[in-house]
Amino acid sequence: MSLPQERRLVTSIPGPRSQELLARKQAAVPPGIGTTLPVFVTKAGGGVVVDADGNSLIDFGSGIAVTNVGNAAPRVVSRVQRQVADFTHTCFMVTPYESYVAVCEKLNRLTPGDHEKRTFLVNSGAEAVENAVKVARHATGRQAVVVFDHGYHGRTLLTMTLTAKSMPYKHRFGPFAPEVYRVPLAYPFRWPTGPGNCAEEAYAQAVDVITKQIGAENVAAVVIEPIAGEGGFIVPARGFLPRIARFCRDNGIVFIADEVQTGFARTGDLFACEDEGVVPDIICTAKGIAGGLPLAAVTGRADLMDKVHVGGLGGTYGGNPLACEAALAVLETIEAEDLVAKARRIGEIMLPRLESLKERHDVIGDVRGRGAMIAIELVEPGTKIPNPTATQEIVKRCHAEGLVVLTAGTYGNVLRFLPPLVMPEHLLEEGLSILEKAVSMVTPMA
Ligand SMILES: *Cc1c(COP(=O)(O)O)cnc(C)c1O
Repeated sequence: MSLPQERRLVTSIPGPRSQELLARKQAAVPPGIGTTLPVFVTKAGGGVVVDADGNSLIDFGSGIAVTNVGNAAPRVVSRVQRQVADFTHTCFMVTPYESYVAVCEKLNRLTPGDHEKRTFLVNSGAEAVENAVKVARHATGRQAVVVFDHGYHGRTLLTMTLTAKSMPYKHRFGPFAPEVYRVPLAYPFRWPTGPGNCAEEAYAQAVDVITKQIGAENVAAVVIEPIAGEGGFIVPARGFLPRIARFCRDNGIVFIADEVQTGFARTGDLFACEDEGVVPDIICTAKGIAGGLPLAAVTGRADLMDKVHVGGLGGTYGGNPLACEAALAVLETIEAEDLVAKARRIGEIMLPRLESLKERHDVIGDVRGRGAMIAIELVEPGTKIPNPTATQEIVKRCHAEGLVVLTAGTYGNVLRFLPPLVMPEHLLEEGLSILEKAVSMVTPMA
């Protein structure tokens, strides 16, 4: 990779050129489109993002878990460059092309379970989740959809309804789609009776709502993130996911795994469901699938997927040929560079350093995650009261030091880390040192 893999600050953050561009953005783009860190990017690759002022920042965000293989990854660049000169679009539903089929074949083979599968391609994570629900409803002839506390599934009418958090995703955007029901998630850190009973009790409560309030025979699908992303990188207590999957199987409910954020080696498995051997009926993927080109996929049991009538699924751009080439390059890169192992290694470096930071600073209530999907949850010291103020202060200090970090969480008190899986270790360590310093400046030692 040609970009120097170093943190380099030549102006304050944001610099003058970025500030000029921010003023233009504010005049041309509505404020509803927020900005986490107002540096305008000119280049990115490996573990760094370079801005319009020449600053080189360490990337702990991957554009929200998208550039798992790195930005402008060499295989992605070369495949897309070749394709863009050949043809840019035909619409797969009008005159098809091979790369779309090749992506579907690969996903059918690589996603959990060795049953017969089908895949179709769309443009965004929300579109994938929405289509998975369409297939589940069609195949079962049922309407209800069950989702979980802290869930995030997108911003379209159906998927914002599936999403748990009001502000900013749902606030004043109603009325919402009907037949969506929410049940508790096994959130170990915040489970009232403690993490030990969390999986069993949360499962019992979810089943109670499904059987008593909705009626299991009315439920088309259960939609769940194997690790809740926007909701705060909540890893459900062990045993919860397999129990929910089994309940679905026993009751003819389609179990839909939303792996939009967790997929493509991010968690140290190719897909996060693999960790507990859970095999979803339908799996939704997007974000990491194509190295930044817009693509998403719905992969599911052939018997469900084949039920939908001809022409019942699709879209103009779904499986665009540039995005398909990028996806093939991503899968080649994950294998060639063993990014599953790289993700695990990132977790092995980050978790102990963050655990030891937690020992020293009781503003950190919880450290969690798997592979390269890691978070810390910030609290009022000595309690579990969410501390969004400290979270924002730490973020501000990290950004000023040239470390791109993101927040998450229902209570806005989670710092999440999603480095590209190709992040050089010296940058990972340097990023962690910046974070440690930011935490100690915001909160005195315990
Ligand atoms: C980001 C995300 C979505 C929505 O994906 P978009 O491409 O933004 O529509 C859905 N589910 C999960 C788990 C996500 O993280």
